[in-house]
Amino acid sequence: MNNFNRRDFIKLMGISTAAVATPSLLKTASAAGFSPRVVVVGSGFAGSTVAKHLRLWSNNVIDVTVVDPHASHVSCVMSNLVVNQQLSMLDITFQHTILNEKYGVNFIQSSVSSINHDAAEKQVFLENGQVISCDYIVLAPGISFDDIPGLDHQKVPHAWIAGPQTELLRDKMKAISGGDTFVMTIPKAPYRCPPGPYERACVIADMMKKKGGGKVIVLDLNPKIIVEEHMFSNAFSEIYGGIVEYIPNITINSVDSDNLIVYTNQGKFEADVLNVIPTHRAGKIITDLGFNTVADRWADINPISYELNDTPDVFVIGDSSGTSQPKSGHMANSQAKICADAIIRKIANRPLDSEERLANLTTNSACYSPITDKTATWLTAGFAYNKIEHKMKAIPASLGEAELHHVDHYKDMFSWSKNLFENTFM
Ligand SMILES: Cc1cc2nc3c(=O)[nH]c(=O)nc-3n(C[C@H](O)[C@H](O)[C@H](O)COP(=O)(O)OP(=O)(O)OC[C@H]3O[C@@H](n4cnc5c(N)ncnc54)[C@H](O)[C@@H]3O)c2cc1C
Repeated sequence: MNNFNRRDFIKLMGISTAAVATPSLLKTASAAGFSPRVVVVGSGFAGSTVAKHLRLWSNNVIDVTVVDPHASHVSCVMSNLVVNQQLSMLDITFQHTILNEKYGVNFIQSSVSSINHDAAEKQVFLENGQVISCDYIVLAPGISFDDIPGLDHQKVPHAWIAGPQTELLRDKMKAISGGDTFVMTIPKAPYRCPPGPYERACVIADMMKKKGGGKVIVLDLNPKIIVEEHMFSNAFSEIYGGIVEYIPNITINSVDSDNLIVYTNQGKFEADVLNVIPTHRAGKIITDLGFNTVADRWADINPISYELNDTPDVFVIGDSSGTSQPKSGHMANSQAKICADAIIRKIANRPLDSEERLANLTTNSACYSPITDKTATWLTAGFAYNKIEHKMKAIPASLGEAELHHVDHYKDMFSWSKNLFENTFM
Protein backbone atom coordinates (compact mmCIF):
# COMPACT_ATOMS: atom_id res chain seq x y z
CA MET A 1 0.00 0.00 0.00
CA ASN A 2 2.49 2.57 -1.18
CA ASN A 3 0.32 5.19 -2.83
CA PHE A 4 -1.59 6.00 0.27
CA ASN A 5 -2.93 9.55 0.14
CA ARG A 6 -5.36 11.92 1.71
CA ARG A 7 -8.36 10.56 -0.18
CA ASP A 8 -7.65 7.11 1.25
CA PHE A 9 -7.63 8.55 4.73
CA ILE A 10 -10.93 10.29 4.13
CA LYS A 11 -12.40 7.04 2.82
CA LEU A 12 -11.08 5.23 5.89
CA MET A 13 -12.67 7.83 8.13
CA GLY A 14 -15.98 7.08 6.41
CA ILE A 15 -16.00 3.29 6.68
CA SER A 16 -15.18 3.42 10.35
CA THR A 17 -18.75 4.49 11.02
CA ALA A 18 -19.76 0.84 10.51
CA ALA A 19 -23.47 0.25 10.12
CA VAL A 20 -24.87 3.39 11.67
CA ALA A 21 -28.34 3.11 13.14
CA THR A 22 -30.62 5.69 11.53
CA PRO A 23 -32.40 8.30 13.63
CA SER A 24 -35.73 6.65 12.78
CA LEU A 25 -34.76 3.80 15.10
CA LEU A 26 -35.22 6.24 17.96
CA LYS A 27 -38.64 7.46 16.94
CA THR A 28 -40.41 5.21 19.43
CA ALA A 29 -38.35 6.43 22.33
CA SER A 30 -38.78 10.02 21.29
CA ALA A 31 -42.55 9.73 20.71
CA ALA A 32 -43.00 8.20 24.15
CA GLY A 33 -41.36 11.30 25.64
CA PHE A 34 -38.36 9.21 26.71
CA SER A 35 -35.15 11.15 26.37
CA PRO A 36 -32.16 8.87 26.89
CA ARG A 37 -29.26 10.51 28.71
CA VAL A 38 -25.60 9.77 28.12
CA VAL A 39 -22.73 11.21 30.16
CA VAL A 40 -19.31 11.20 28.49
CA VAL A 41 -16.27 11.43 30.76
CA GLY A 42 -13.42 13.19 28.93
CA SER A 43 -13.58 15.29 25.79
CA GLY A 44 -10.44 14.32 23.91
CA PHE A 45 -10.46 12.43 20.62
CA ALA A 46 -12.71 9.60 21.82
CA GLY A 47 -15.07 11.61 24.05
CA SER A 48 -15.68 14.48 21.61
CA THR A 49 -16.32 12.10 18.70
CA VAL A 50 -18.82 9.96 20.60
CA ALA A 51 -20.68 13.02 21.95
CA LYS A 52 -20.96 14.63 18.52
CA HIS A 53 -22.09 11.45 16.76
CA LEU A 54 -24.61 10.48 19.46
CA ARG A 55 -26.33 13.81 18.80
CA LEU A 56 -25.97 13.67 15.02
CA TRP A 57 -27.08 10.09 14.54
CA SER A 58 -29.96 10.24 17.03
CA ASN A 59 -31.33 13.37 15.37
CA ASN A 60 -30.70 15.16 18.68
CA VAL A 61 -33.01 12.78 20.59
CA ILE A 62 -30.27 11.71 23.00
CA ASP A 63 -29.33 14.15 25.73
CA VAL A 64 -25.52 14.18 25.83
CA THR A 65 -23.41 15.75 28.57
CA VAL A 66 -19.62 15.84 28.41
CA VAL A 67 -17.49 16.42 31.51
CA ASP A 68 -13.84 17.45 31.28
CA PRO A 69 -11.66 19.58 33.57
CA HIS A 70 -10.48 21.68 30.62
CA ALA A 71 -12.55 24.23 28.64
CA SER A 72 -10.69 23.24 25.48
CA HIS A 73 -8.76 20.20 24.27
CA VAL A 74 -5.11 20.50 23.33
CA SER A 75 -4.34 17.80 20.77
CA CYS A 76 -1.34 15.53 21.18
CA VAL A 77 -1.60 14.92 17.43
CA MET A 78 0.82 17.42 15.79
CA SER A 79 2.08 18.58 19.22
CA ASN A 80 5.71 17.74 18.38
CA LEU A 81 5.47 20.60 15.87
CA VAL A 82 4.74 22.96 18.76
CA VAL A 83 7.94 21.76 20.44
CA ASN A 84 9.96 22.82 17.37
CA GLN A 85 7.82 25.97 16.98
CA GLN A 86 6.48 25.16 13.53
CA LEU A 87 2.98 25.35 15.04
CA SER A 88 1.52 27.39 17.90
CA MET A 89 -0.55 26.04 20.79
CA LEU A 90 -3.55 27.73 19.21
CA ASP A 91 -3.19 25.54 16.11
CA ILE A 92 -3.79 22.39 18.18
CA THR A 93 -6.41 23.74 20.64
CA PHE A 94 -10.15 23.08 20.21
CA GLN A 95 -12.87 24.77 22.27
CA HIS A 96 -15.61 22.54 23.69
CA THR A 97 -18.16 25.31 23.05
CA ILE A 98 -18.09 24.28 19.36
CA LEU A 99 -19.84 20.94 20.02
CA ASN A 100 -22.37 22.75 22.18
CA GLU A 101 -23.13 25.41 19.58
CA LYS A 102 -23.23 23.07 16.57
CA TYR A 103 -24.77 19.91 18.03
CA GLY A 104 -26.27 20.81 21.43
CA VAL A 105 -23.79 18.74 23.45
CA ASN A 106 -23.91 19.93 27.09
CA PHE A 107 -20.48 20.63 28.54
CA ILE A 108 -19.53 20.78 32.22
CA GLN A 109 -16.02 21.86 33.16
CA SER A 110 -15.06 19.59 36.04
CA SER A 111 -13.42 16.26 36.74
CA VAL A 112 -15.38 13.06 37.35
CA SER A 113 -14.38 11.52 40.68
CA SER A 114 -16.64 8.43 40.64
CA ILE A 115 -19.72 6.79 39.17
CA ASN A 116 -22.53 4.63 40.49
CA HIS A 117 -23.38 2.02 37.87
CA ASP A 118 -25.35 -0.53 39.91
CA ALA A 119 -28.89 0.71 39.24
CA ALA A 120 -30.59 1.30 35.87
CA GLU A 121 -30.40 5.00 36.62
CA LYS A 122 -26.68 5.72 36.85
CA GLN A 123 -24.94 8.57 38.62
CA VAL A 124 -21.82 10.46 37.78
CA PHE A 125 -20.09 12.32 40.63
CA LEU A 126 -18.14 15.45 39.79
CA GLU A 127 -15.33 17.10 41.73
CA ASN A 128 -17.37 20.34 41.79
CA GLY A 129 -19.98 18.53 43.91
CA GLN A 130 -22.51 18.04 41.11
CA VAL A 131 -24.16 14.63 40.62
CA ILE A 132 -25.54 13.84 37.14
CA SER A 133 -28.11 11.08 36.61
CA CYS A 134 -28.10 9.24 33.30
CA ASP A 135 -28.84 5.97 31.48
CA TYR A 136 -25.45 5.32 29.89
CA ILE A 137 -21.89 6.33 30.77
CA VAL A 138 -19.00 6.54 28.30
CA LEU A 139 -15.56 6.73 29.89
CA ALA A 140 -12.94 8.30 27.60
CA PRO A 141 -10.25 9.55 30.00
CA GLY A 142 -7.14 8.82 27.90
CA ILE A 143 -4.04 7.70 29.78
CA SER A 144 -2.19 8.04 33.06
CA PHE A 145 1.45 7.20 33.85
CA ASP A 146 3.32 4.75 36.05
CA ASP A 147 5.23 6.35 38.92
CA ILE A 148 9.02 6.55 38.69
CA PRO A 149 10.99 7.30 41.89
CA GLY A 150 12.24 10.90 41.90
CA LEU A 151 10.37 11.97 38.77
CA ASP A 152 8.93 15.50 38.92
CA HIS A 153 7.15 16.41 35.69
CA GLN A 154 7.48 20.13 36.35
CA LYS A 155 11.26 19.74 35.96
CA VAL A 156 11.31 16.73 33.63
CA PRO A 157 8.36 17.08 31.22
CA HIS A 158 6.75 14.10 29.52
CA ALA A 159 4.87 16.30 27.01
CA TRP A 160 2.82 13.17 26.23
CA ILE A 161 -0.49 14.70 27.37
CA ALA A 162 -0.56 17.93 25.41
CA GLY A 163 -1.05 21.29 27.13
CA PRO A 164 1.24 22.98 29.66
CA GLN A 165 3.64 20.02 29.34
CA THR A 166 4.06 20.76 25.61
CA GLU A 167 4.84 24.40 26.39
CA LEU A 168 7.34 23.36 29.08
CA LEU A 169 9.26 21.12 26.66
CA ARG A 170 9.08 23.79 23.92
CA ASP A 171 10.53 26.40 26.31
CA LYS A 172 13.31 24.07 27.47
CA MET A 173 14.19 23.44 23.81
CA LYS A 174 14.25 27.20 23.14
CA ALA A 175 16.92 27.50 25.84
CA ILE A 176 19.03 24.49 24.79
CA SER A 177 22.38 25.27 23.10
CA GLY A 178 24.36 23.57 20.36
CA GLY A 179 26.55 20.84 21.87
CA ASP A 180 24.03 20.15 24.67
CA THR A 181 22.54 16.74 25.45
CA PHE A 182 18.84 15.85 25.22
CA VAL A 183 17.89 12.55 26.86
CA MET A 184 14.46 10.97 26.32
CA THR A 185 12.87 7.68 27.37
CA ILE A 186 10.35 5.61 25.40
CA PRO A 187 7.68 3.77 27.41
CA LYS A 188 7.02 0.06 27.23
CA ALA A 189 4.40 -0.77 24.56
CA PRO A 190 1.47 -0.42 24.33
CA TYR A 191 1.59 3.35 24.56
CA ARG A 192 -0.23 6.15 22.72
CA CYS A 193 0.96 6.77 19.15
CA PRO A 194 3.44 3.93 18.43
CA PRO A 195 5.75 6.01 16.15
CA GLY A 196 5.38 9.16 18.32
CA PRO A 197 8.52 8.86 20.49
CA TYR A 198 10.75 8.06 17.48
CA GLU A 199 9.16 11.04 15.72
CA ARG A 200 10.01 13.20 18.74
CA ALA A 201 13.63 12.02 18.64
CA CYS A 202 13.81 13.11 14.96
CA VAL A 203 12.18 16.50 15.62
CA ILE A 204 14.60 17.20 18.49
CA ALA A 205 17.62 15.91 16.52
CA ASP A 206 16.66 18.23 13.65
CA MET A 207 16.62 21.15 16.12
CA MET A 208 20.01 20.16 17.55
CA LYS A 209 21.46 19.81 14.05
CA LYS A 210 20.36 23.37 13.26
CA LYS A 211 21.99 24.56 16.48
CA GLY A 212 25.28 23.13 15.25
CA GLY A 213 25.12 19.65 16.78
CA GLY A 214 24.71 18.01 20.16
CA LYS A 215 23.44 14.69 21.43
CA VAL A 216 19.98 13.10 21.48
CA ILE A 217 20.08 9.96 23.62
CA VAL A 218 17.02 7.76 23.12
CA LEU A 219 16.48 5.24 25.93
CA ASP A 220 13.90 2.68 24.79
CA LEU A 221 12.22 0.36 27.29
CA ASN A 222 11.34 -1.89 24.35
CA PRO A 223 13.79 -4.38 22.81
CA LYS A 224 13.76 -2.53 19.46
CA ILE A 225 12.07 0.23 17.46
CA ILE A 226 8.49 -1.06 17.50
CA VAL A 227 7.15 0.50 14.25
CA GLU A 228 8.64 1.80 10.98
CA GLU A 229 11.92 0.28 12.11
CA HIS A 230 13.68 0.76 8.78
CA MET A 231 12.61 4.41 8.50
CA PHE A 232 13.57 5.44 12.02
CA SER A 233 16.81 3.45 12.27
CA ASN A 234 17.93 5.03 8.96
CA ALA A 235 16.95 8.47 10.20
CA PHE A 236 18.91 7.94 13.43
CA SER A 237 22.03 6.62 11.73
CA GLU A 238 22.05 8.64 8.50
CA ILE A 239 20.19 11.96 8.75
CA TYR A 240 21.08 12.32 12.42
CA GLY A 241 24.25 10.20 12.50
CA GLY A 242 26.55 11.42 15.29
CA ILE A 243 23.61 13.14 17.01
CA VAL A 244 21.15 10.35 17.88
CA GLU A 245 22.27 7.47 20.07
CA TYR A 246 19.57 4.78 20.35
CA ILE A 247 19.73 2.35 23.29
CA PRO A 248 17.06 -0.42 23.63
CA ASN A 249 16.18 -2.71 26.58
CA ILE A 250 16.30 0.05 29.16
CA THR A 251 14.87 -0.25 32.65
CA ILE A 252 14.51 3.02 34.53
CA ASN A 253 15.44 2.78 38.21
CA SER A 254 14.97 6.40 39.22
CA VAL A 255 15.26 10.01 38.13
CA ASP A 256 17.12 12.90 39.76
CA SER A 257 14.80 15.68 38.61
CA ASP A 258 16.91 18.53 40.05
CA ASN A 259 20.11 17.45 38.34
CA LEU A 260 18.44 15.97 35.20
CA ILE A 261 19.90 12.49 35.55
CA VAL A 262 18.11 9.23 34.73
CA TYR A 263 19.44 6.06 36.44
CA THR A 264 18.91 2.86 34.45
CA ASN A 265 19.98 -0.79 34.19
CA GLN A 266 22.55 0.45 31.64
CA GLY A 267 24.07 3.21 33.74
CA LYS A 268 23.24 6.83 34.44
CA PHE A 269 22.50 9.41 31.74
CA GLU A 270 22.97 13.12 32.39
CA ALA A 271 21.00 15.66 30.34
CA ASP A 272 20.65 19.35 29.67
CA VAL A 273 17.01 18.66 28.83
CA LEU A 274 15.44 15.45 30.13
CA ASN A 275 12.17 14.10 28.66
CA VAL A 276 10.92 11.03 30.53
CA ILE A 277 7.73 9.47 29.11
CA PRO A 278 6.65 6.84 31.65
CA THR A 279 4.87 3.61 30.75
CA HIS A 280 1.11 4.14 30.36
CA ARG A 281 -2.06 2.79 31.87
CA ALA A 282 -5.71 3.74 31.42
CA GLY A 283 -6.91 7.12 32.70
CA LYS A 284 -6.92 7.28 36.51
CA ILE A 285 -10.71 7.03 36.85
CA ILE A 286 -10.60 3.58 35.19
CA THR A 287 -8.17 2.31 37.84
CA ASP A 288 -10.06 4.03 40.66
CA LEU A 289 -13.24 2.22 39.56
CA GLY A 290 -11.44 -1.15 39.29
CA PHE A 291 -12.09 -1.38 35.51
CA ASN A 292 -8.35 -1.87 34.72
CA THR A 293 -8.61 -5.63 34.37
CA VAL A 294 -6.65 -6.11 31.11
CA ALA A 295 -2.99 -6.59 32.13
CA ASP A 296 -3.86 -4.63 35.25
CA ARG A 297 -3.80 -1.50 33.04
CA TRP A 298 -6.64 -1.26 30.53
CA ALA A 299 -10.44 -1.72 30.46
CA ASP A 300 -11.93 -5.00 29.27
CA ILE A 301 -14.45 -4.08 26.57
CA ASN A 302 -16.66 -5.86 24.06
CA PRO A 303 -15.22 -4.88 20.64
CA ILE A 304 -18.64 -4.67 18.99
CA SER A 305 -19.85 -1.93 21.33
CA TYR A 306 -16.99 -0.87 23.67
CA GLU A 307 -19.32 -1.74 26.56
CA LEU A 308 -17.45 -3.10 29.59
CA ASN A 309 -17.68 -6.88 29.59
CA ASP A 310 -18.99 -7.13 33.14
CA THR A 311 -20.70 -3.76 33.56
CA PRO A 312 -23.74 -3.14 31.33
CA ASP A 313 -24.36 0.35 29.97
CA VAL A 314 -20.86 1.59 30.84
CA PHE A 315 -18.55 1.99 27.83
CA VAL A 316 -14.81 2.67 27.55
CA ILE A 317 -13.31 4.10 24.35
CA GLY A 318 -9.99 5.50 23.18
CA ASP A 319 -6.61 4.91 24.78
CA SER A 320 -8.11 3.52 28.01
CA SER A 321 -9.68 0.54 26.25
CA GLY A 322 -7.82 -2.76 26.27
CA THR A 323 -7.64 -4.01 22.68
CA SER A 324 -4.86 -5.00 20.29
CA GLN A 325 -5.63 -1.94 18.16
CA PRO A 326 -3.09 0.90 18.31
CA LYS A 327 -3.70 3.72 20.73
CA SER A 328 -4.13 6.76 18.50
CA GLY A 329 -6.41 9.74 18.00
CA HIS A 330 -7.53 8.36 14.65
CA MET A 331 -8.36 5.02 16.31
CA ALA A 332 -10.13 6.76 19.22
CA ASN A 333 -12.31 8.58 16.65
CA SER A 334 -13.05 5.23 14.96
CA GLN A 335 -13.94 3.41 18.17
CA ALA A 336 -16.15 6.29 19.30
CA LYS A 337 -18.34 5.91 16.20
CA ILE A 338 -18.85 2.19 16.83
CA CYS A 339 -19.71 3.00 20.43
CA ALA A 340 -22.20 5.75 19.41
CA ASP A 341 -23.86 3.35 16.98
CA ALA A 342 -24.04 0.64 19.68
CA ILE A 343 -25.64 2.96 22.24
CA ILE A 344 -28.23 4.15 19.72
CA ARG A 345 -29.07 0.52 18.85
CA LYS A 346 -29.37 -0.40 22.53
CA ILE A 347 -31.77 2.48 23.09
CA ALA A 348 -33.78 1.52 20.00
CA ASN A 349 -33.78 -2.13 21.08
CA ARG A 350 -32.03 -3.25 17.90
CA PRO A 351 -29.46 -6.09 17.92
CA LEU A 352 -25.78 -5.21 17.98
CA ASP A 353 -24.72 -8.52 16.51
CA SER A 354 -26.65 -8.67 13.23
CA GLU A 355 -24.66 -10.25 10.37
CA GLU A 356 -24.76 -6.98 8.45
CA ARG A 357 -23.44 -4.88 11.33
CA LEU A 358 -20.67 -7.29 12.26
CA ALA A 359 -19.56 -7.58 8.64
CA ASN A 360 -19.14 -3.79 8.49
CA LEU A 361 -17.44 -3.35 11.84
CA THR A 362 -14.09 -1.76 11.02
CA THR A 363 -11.71 0.66 12.67
CA ASN A 364 -8.56 2.32 11.44
CA SER A 365 -5.56 4.26 12.55
CA ALA A 366 -3.01 6.55 10.98
CA CYS A 367 0.01 8.33 12.35
CA TYR A 368 2.10 10.85 10.43
CA SER A 369 5.59 11.57 11.70
CA PRO A 370 7.80 14.49 10.77
CA ILE A 371 11.34 13.27 10.14
CA THR A 372 12.83 16.69 9.34
CA ASP A 373 11.21 20.13 9.35
CA LYS A 374 10.13 19.61 5.73
CA THR A 375 9.52 15.88 5.34
CA ALA A 376 7.32 13.29 7.01
CA THR A 377 6.47 9.60 6.93
CA TRP A 378 3.19 7.78 7.65
CA LEU A 379 1.91 4.51 9.06
CA THR A 380 -1.60 3.10 8.78
CA ALA A 381 -3.60 0.06 9.86
CA GLY A 382 -7.22 -1.04 9.45
CA PHE A 383 -9.01 -3.59 11.64
CA ALA A 384 -12.12 -5.72 11.06
CA TYR A 385 -14.23 -7.69 13.50
CA ASN A 386 -13.42 -11.40 13.56
CA LYS A 387 -16.49 -13.32 14.68
CA ILE A 388 -14.66 -16.55 15.58
CA GLU A 389 -12.12 -14.88 17.82
CA HIS A 390 -14.55 -12.14 18.91
CA LYS A 391 -11.95 -9.43 18.42
CA MET A 392 -10.77 -6.75 16.03
CA LYS A 393 -8.03 -8.10 13.77
CA ALA A 394 -5.69 -6.25 11.45
CA ILE A 395 -6.72 -6.29 7.77
CA PRO A 396 -3.46 -7.34 6.05
CA ALA A 397 -4.15 -5.26 2.91
CA SER A 398 -4.62 -2.13 5.02
CA LEU A 399 -1.25 -2.28 6.76
CA GLY A 400 1.09 0.21 5.19
CA GLU A 401 3.90 2.63 5.77
CA ALA A 402 5.70 5.17 3.63
CA GLU A 403 8.79 3.95 1.82
CA LEU A 404 10.52 7.31 2.09
CA HIS A 405 10.16 10.44 4.18
CA HIS A 406 8.99 13.06 1.74
CA VAL A 407 7.81 16.64 1.39
CA ASP A 408 4.50 15.41 -0.07
CA HIS A 409 3.86 13.33 3.07
CA TYR A 410 4.66 16.41 5.13
CA LYS A 411 1.95 18.35 3.25
CA ASP A 412 -0.50 15.42 3.50
CA MET A 413 0.07 15.37 7.26
CA PHE A 414 -1.65 18.76 7.52
CA SER A 415 -4.62 17.71 5.32
CA TRP A 416 -5.03 14.46 7.28
CA SER A 417 -4.84 16.14 10.71
CA LYS A 418 -7.24 18.92 9.62
CA ASN A 419 -9.71 16.26 8.52
CA LEU A 420 -9.33 14.34 11.81
CA PHE A 421 -9.66 17.51 13.91
CA GLU A 422 -12.80 18.59 12.04
CA ASN A 423 -14.36 15.13 12.27
CA THR A 424 -13.68 15.04 16.01
CA PHE A 425 -13.96 18.53 17.49
CA MET A 426 -16.10 20.54 15.02
C1 LIG B 1 3.41 13.43 20.37
C2 LIG B 1 2.18 12.67 19.99
C3 LIG B 1 1.86 12.53 18.65
C4 LIG B 1 0.71 11.82 18.28
N1 LIG B 1 0.43 11.67 16.95
C5 LIG B 1 -0.65 10.97 16.57
C6 LIG B 1 -0.94 10.78 15.19
O1 LIG B 1 -0.18 11.16 14.29
N2 LIG B 1 -2.08 10.11 14.87
C7 LIG B 1 -2.95 9.68 15.82
O2 LIG B 1 -3.99 9.15 15.45
N3 LIG B 1 -2.67 9.80 17.14
C8 LIG B 1 -1.55 10.42 17.54
N4 LIG B 1 -1.27 10.57 18.88
C9 LIG B 1 -2.08 9.82 19.88
C10 LIG B 1 -3.36 10.54 20.30
O3 LIG B 1 -3.11 11.83 20.74
C11 LIG B 1 -4.07 9.75 21.42
O4 LIG B 1 -4.10 8.39 21.08
C12 LIG B 1 -5.49 10.28 21.61
O5 LIG B 1 -5.40 11.55 22.20
C13 LIG B 1 -6.35 9.36 22.46
O6 LIG B 1 -7.62 9.90 22.61
P1 LIG B 1 -8.43 9.72 23.98
O7 LIG B 1 -9.72 10.41 23.78
O8 LIG B 1 -8.41 8.32 24.41
O9 LIG B 1 -7.56 10.53 25.05
P2 LIG B 1 -7.31 12.10 25.12
O10 LIG B 1 -7.39 12.70 23.77
O11 LIG B 1 -6.06 12.28 25.91
O12 LIG B 1 -8.53 12.67 25.96
C14 LIG B 1 -8.76 12.31 27.31
C15 LIG B 1 -9.60 13.40 27.96
O13 LIG B 1 -10.14 12.90 29.18
C16 LIG B 1 -10.11 13.92 30.15
N5 LIG B 1 -10.20 13.30 31.47
C17 LIG B 1 -9.32 12.43 32.05
N6 LIG B 1 -9.77 12.05 33.26
C18 LIG B 1 -10.97 12.66 33.45
C19 LIG B 1 -11.93 12.66 34.51
N7 LIG B 1 -11.74 11.94 35.64
N8 LIG B 1 -13.04 13.42 34.38
C20 LIG B 1 -13.25 14.15 33.23
N9 LIG B 1 -12.38 14.17 32.21
C21 LIG B 1 -11.26 13.45 32.31
C22 LIG B 1 -8.81 14.66 29.85
O14 LIG B 1 -8.82 15.98 30.39
C23 LIG B 1 -8.77 14.63 28.33
O15 LIG B 1 -9.39 15.80 27.77
C24 LIG B 1 -0.13 11.27 19.28
C25 LIG B 1 0.20 11.41 20.63
C26 LIG B 1 1.34 12.10 20.99
C27 LIG B 1 1.68 12.24 22.44
